[in-house]
Amino acid sequence: MFFKRIALIIAVEDEAKPIIEGLGLSHKGKLLSPLPMEFYEGRHNSLNIDLVTSGKCDRFNVDNVGPQAAILNTATTIGRLQPDLIINPGTAGGFVSVGASIGDVYLSYPMICYHDRRIPIPGFDAYGIGSYYCFDTRGIAEEFGLKTGIISTGSSLDYTDKDLELIKSYGGVVKEMEAASIAWVADLYKIPFFAVKSITDLVDNFTPTEEEYLRNLTSASMALSREVVRIIKYFAQ
Ligand code: SAH
Repeated sequence: MFFKRIALIIAVEDEAKPIIEGLGLSHKGKLLSPLPMEFYEGRHNSLNIDLVTSGKCDRFNVDNVGPQAAILNTATTIGRLQPDLIINPGTAGGFVSVGASIGDVYLSYPMICYHDRRIPIPGFDAYGIGSYYCFDTRGIAEEFGLKTGIISTGSSLDYTDKDLELIKSYGGVVKEMEAASIAWVADLYKIPFFAVKSITDLVDNFTPTEEEYLRNLTSASMALSREVVRIIKYFAQ
C-alpha cells in the first residue's frame, strides 16, 4: 500500500522523544491552540511524517494519557493534517500466559477492544467492547519479526478482575489506554489505523504494574522507537 501522509499519535512524551529523534522530526509548537497537543513534522523520501503528542495537563503537570485525550488528539490531527494512515506507538502491559516478555513489540491485529466500558444492555454490551478492526499488519510483523495480537484499551493502568475476564473473553494480549479510542475516530473517517505497542510490564505476574512500568519505560521506549523508525522507512520506500 502507498501512503503519502502518516500521522503518529502518541500519549507519553518520554515515549515520543526517541521516535522524534530517530525520525529527525522538528517541533512546530501546539497543533491547535488552546489544546495541549504538540506537533512535530518531517519527511522521509516522498512521505510526510506528522507526530502529535497529547501534551501535558496544566492542572496536574503530567502527560495527557488515556482515552479522552487520545480522541481529542486524533480528531484534531485528522481535521488539521488529513493523514492517509494513522499509527499509535506506545507502551503497554503484556501477559506471561501468552509468552510475552518486557520489550516485546506488538502490532495490533485483527482488532482493538475496550475492557472497561461495561453496559449490560443488549446491543450496548457489544458497543461498549467496540471491536474496531485495524489495518492488516501481518506482512509488516513478518518482515520485522514482531508479534501481532488483539489490543485492549481501558482508562486505568491497574485492573479489576472484571477487566481481566473481559480481556480474556475476546483474546486480548496487550493492555493499554489509548488504541481503541484512536481506532474509533480513524474508523469514523475511514482512515487506516494500527497500533505499535512495546511491553513495559506484565499484567499476570506479582509485581505491581506501576513499579514495572517505571523501571522498564526507558528500555521499552528504545525498542518502540527502533521498530517505529523501521516501519516508517518501510512505508517510505
Ligand atoms: N507517563 C507516565 C505514566 C503513564 S500511564 C509516567 O511517566 O509516569 C501509562 C501509559 O502507558 C498509558 O499511555 C498506557 O497506554 C501505557 N501502559 C503501559 N502499561 C500499561 C498497562 N499495564 N495498562 C494500561 N496502560 C499501560
